[in-house]
Amino acid sequence: MKDIPNSTEARDIKNLMHPYTNARKLETEGPLVIESGEGIYVTDNNGNRYLEAMSGLWSAGLGFSEKRLVAAATRQMEKLPFYHIFSMRSHGPAVDLAEKLVNLAPVPMSKAFFTNSGSEANDTAVKMLWYRAHALGTPEKKKVISRLRGYHGVTVVAASMTGLPYNHTSFGLPLPGFLHTGSPHYWRDAEPGESEADFVARRARELEELILAEGPETIAAFIGEPVNGGGGVIVPPQGYWQAIQAVLDKYDILLIADEVICGFGRTGNMFGTETFGMKPDMMTLSKQITSSYQPFSALLVNERVFAPIADESNRIGTFGHGYTGGGHPVGAAVALETLRIIEEDKLLDHVGDVGAHMQAGLAALTGHPLVGEHRGVGLIAALELVTDKETKAGLDKPGALGGIAAAKMQANGVISRNMNDALAFCPPMIITHAEVDDMLARTKRSLDETAAEIGM
Ligand code: PMP
Repeated sequence: MKDIPNSTEARDIKNLMHPYTNARKLETEGPLVIESGEGIYVTDNNGNRYLEAMSGLWSAGLGFSEKRLVAAATRQMEKLPFYHIFSMRSHGPAVDLAEKLVNLAPVPMSKAFFTNSGSEANDTAVKMLWYRAHALGTPEKKKVISRLRGYHGVTVVAASMTGLPYNHTSFGLPLPGFLHTGSPHYWRDAEPGESEADFVARRARELEELILAEGPETIAAFIGEPVNGGGGVIVPPQGYWQAIQAVLDKYDILLIADEVICGFGRTGNMFGTETFGMKPDMMTLSKQITSSYQPFSALLVNERVFAPIADESNRIGTFGHGYTGGGHPVGAAVALETLRIIEEDKLLDHVGDVGAHMQAGLAALTGHPLVGEHRGVGLIAALELVTDKETKAGLDKPGALGGIAAAKMQANGVISRNMNDALAFCPPMIITHAEVDDMLARTKRSLDETAAEIGM
């Protein structure tokens, strides 16, 4: 298709620069053009249908054809297509959504602040902490600790907090003042013979050592995803968040829960914070908040965060931060409707039920010669692919094995995604048992074909 003049593929290559893409590879291979969506499926411009096992970007929780969201957007477009909430202006959808989110929060939260993307929400969290540090007369308390393999987005600050090489290499990041500690990836990072409990204690000890080396008076916050998605779906071991929280409390360091993937049902509760018993001071939210039908994100902040910022804005004259589209009425209306659907359709119960079915099916695949580990919770999971279960090695280049498997999945009608050699599953929350079974059967076939291709 890409060689046909004026095809969508040819015009794409000519004009469109893609995010997260090898631009030269795109020129030779051309893009996959998705044209329409229905339920958990999307269809490309050649009529091939794919089961979207990633919900797009971990985000279209209600699938690709929820008419109620279309109707909510249309109603709001007709009534008030845009207004902002700067300078003491407001509108109903922003107020309704802020109230809804503050009430939904699993720990006491004081206010909602609206942004447009997960990255912006995380950048805003840090700017709030910096402003707060000045308000409290401790301007040196500004450093942020995140985790290796953590994913928090791509704006300059969010990318600095992200702990993945692609987001730092050749960008000259991270910025100074952004520190990384070890990931809770037990299967990959545990010492030989180390128990989960010992591994958790070691991670907590390493965090404490980092804090002491830097000076606790210089550290504002720790940020982490309840389940780390972009690093390869890393579900923390039992007791991990409690051990981390204890260290943070000891040194008066705030916790930011990045709920951009986990929020709104993904782990079987409304928030990952509940699933793992976290006690965040700030929560960043996006993706499933609108099922990604509109770009939208939000932060929830507790009174410890809000009160000094409010006082400082009074002293200075304003809180000099905000985005034109933040709290957009159409996005807010779609978010409110998404939350109504999650509640009315009892989707949290459904995720618990169909999620257990998916996890059991994926766990059964650990018998496959290529599957080193299955991990997951609710409706998010990964299969870690290896060529040698003993040494946990893959092919020569990290990600090569995962790349072959993801391509086989696509050829078998399933869109998955490999993070290095972890093959991820994060299907729309509306997926049925039968659709899970179909996804698992296609996954099994793809793994068999991958093994055959590499001569295993
Ligand atoms: N945080 C997490 C946990 C994410 O997974 C992502 C995106 N995958 C982001 C932040 C960044 O969100 P966005 O791409 O909307 O900026």
